[in-house]
Amino acid sequence: ANSSLGGKVALVTGASSGIGEATAAALAAAGMKVAVAARRVDRLEALVGRIEKAGGAALAIEADIAKAGDIVAMVDKVVSEWGRLDVLVNNAGIMLLATAAEADLDDWRQMIELNLIGLMATTKAALPHLKASKGHIVNVSSVAGRVANPGATGYAATKFGVVAFSESLRREVYADKVRVTVIEPGLVRTELSDHITNAEFKAGLEHRLATMEALTAEDIANAIFYAVSQPPRVNVNEILIRPTDQE
Ligand code: NDP
Repeated sequence: ANSSLGGKVALVTGASSGIGEATAAALAAAGMKVAVAARRVDRLEALVGRIEKAGGAALAIEADIAKAGDIVAMVDKVVSEWGRLDVLVNNAGIMLLATAAEADLDDWRQMIELNLIGLMATTKAALPHLKASKGHIVNVSSVAGRVANPGATGYAATKFGVVAFSESLRREVYADKVRVTVIEPGLVRTELSDHITNAEFKAGLEHRLATMEALTAEDIANAIFYAVSQPPRVNVNEILIRPTDQE
C-alpha cells in the first residue's frame, strides 16, 4: 500500500461504472478506505465485493447526486463510518449531446443538476471534513470543459462550469491546505454514450469510438491517482488527457 494514502478515506461518486469504478479500485489498491456512491446499488455491491476480496475496505452508498438530501446523507455516512474524509472524487456525470436547436430542455436540466449543481453541493457538504483532514478534491470535467464543440452545448456549459468552479474553489481553500484538481479527459470507452437521447449524436459518438483507440477508464484512474498521491506541497491543478487518436 502507498504509505501516504494508506488508511485514509476516499469518496468516489459515480462509482458504479466507468471512470469512477476504476478510480475507486485504484485508490483501494493503494490502501485507502473507499466509499463508492451511485444509484445502481447492485453494481456498487459487486465493486465492494471485489475490493474486499483483494484485501481492501469499501462501503457502498446509494445516492442520487441530483438530490440535495442524498448528497448530505452520503457525506454523513462516510464520516460516521470512518470518522474522516481525505479525498473526494466528484465524478458522477451524464453527457446528453444535441445541438441547441434540437436539445431537450429536460436533458439540459438533468446535466446541470447532476454535472454542475450536484458536484458543487457534494463539495460544499464535504468541505468541513476536507478542511479538517487537509484533504483533496478531484473534479472530473472533460475536454468539453476546455473546447466547446457543436453538439455539446448543454454538456460543455456544465463542464466549463466545473473548471470555473474548481479554480474559484482552489483559491478559496488553498490556505487551508486543501488541494483541488480538475481532470479533463477526452474520449474514454465507458457507458457514457448509452444515455444520449439524440439518435444522430449517439450514433456519431459510437462510430467515433468504433474507429479509434479510445482511452480506458483505467487511464483516467491513473491520472487521478497521480494527482492524489503527490506529497502535500504539490497541488496538481489540472490534467488534460486525450487519446492519441483524438484531434
Ligand atoms: P459512465 O456512464 O460509465 O459512468 C457515470 C457514473 O455516474 C455511473 O457510475 C452512474 O451511476 C453515475 N451517475 C449518473 N447519474 C447519476 C446520478 N443522478 N446520481 C449519482 N450517480 C449518477 O461514464 P464515465 O465513467 O465516462 O463518466 C464519468 C465522468 O467522466 C462523467 O462526469 C463524464 O462527464 C466524465 N467524462 C467522460 C468522458 C468519456 O469519454 N467517457 C470524457 C470526459 C469526461 P448510476 O447510473 O448507477 O447512478
